[in-house]
Amino acid sequence: MENLTDISVIKKICARYGFKFKKGFGQNFLCDEDIVNEIIYGSGINENTDVIEIGPGFGSLTQSLLKYAKSVTSIEIDSSLVPVLTDLFGNEENFTLINEDVLKLDLNEIIKSDNTVLVANLPYYITTPILTYLLEGRFNLKSVTVMVQKEVADRMVAPPGSKDYGAITCLIDYYSDSRIIVDVPKECFIPAPNVNSAVVKLDILSEPKAKPLSEKNMFKLIKASFNQRRKTFLNGVSNSSVTDKSKAELEEILIKSGYDANLRGETLSIEEFAELSDKIF
Ligand code: SAM
Repeated sequence: MENLTDISVIKKICARYGFKFKKGFGQNFLCDEDIVNEIIYGSGINENTDVIEIGPGFGSLTQSLLKYAKSVTSIEIDSSLVPVLTDLFGNEENFTLINEDVLKLDLNEIIKSDNTVLVANLPYYITTPILTYLLEGRFNLKSVTVMVQKEVADRMVAPPGSKDYGAITCLIDYYSDSRIIVDVPKECFIPAPNVNSAVVKLDILSEPKAKPLSEKNMFKLIKASFNQRRKTFLNGVSNSSVTDKSKAELEEILIKSGYDANLRGETLSIEEFAELSDKIF
């Protein structure tokens, strides 16, 4: 089979199927073989791994996933890609294509084994909803390896106290150990997006990192404390509608828990958010 990361092959497929890239579906296709290899290597795939792929596009990643993994189930929203992908991989025994919006699926029905990983060059317009869906769904996935905008990747792996640390970091931290595998310049895609990208690997934890009495309340607190970034935790939370507690009551909780009243939300680890959430709600 032709190398699907080769630009001339991608152009040929476009011409053969009359395919037009759809910005609305975040269609920037990967055309760099080295990056594909980094993703395969970094995600730790081998002949015993079942892979779920979101958004195969023209199959530049799918081609290598099929070579190294036990099975590949690719979920693609764009029905105009079905004939392309069927012609390319329809004869591969370990390939399944699902033409659907990933957010409308129950991944539990697709996950085949305890050795399932998710890999995706994500459509950037719905990165956060997809990550939220994948993590909050508590699916039986060993890892999630995703290409995202570089700026989002930096936020996903940021340590507490750094400028990039925020609500998305807390979500990632709660459910996984994360790291950037490789930075990807925009020139590695066709059409080239406006921003650079990076691949992030999330190793999913068997149990979340913290144990709040209510996850819902903890994430409400996190959201409130990052909503007004330049404010102190106390001002951010007391100005929000997440709790009926007065500012004085919140201050007392902070001080009794050993924190400074001028504490900023971005310095709190996920474990500390859990502790404060239990005391506030
Ligand atoms: N994996 C291919 C590659 O690396 O060249 C394509 C990646 S492209 C950034 C994102 C892909 O996700 C596109 O094929 C797009 O049609 C698909 N997509 C967009 N929204 C989707 C959704 N909600 N569910 C499933 N696939 C989606």
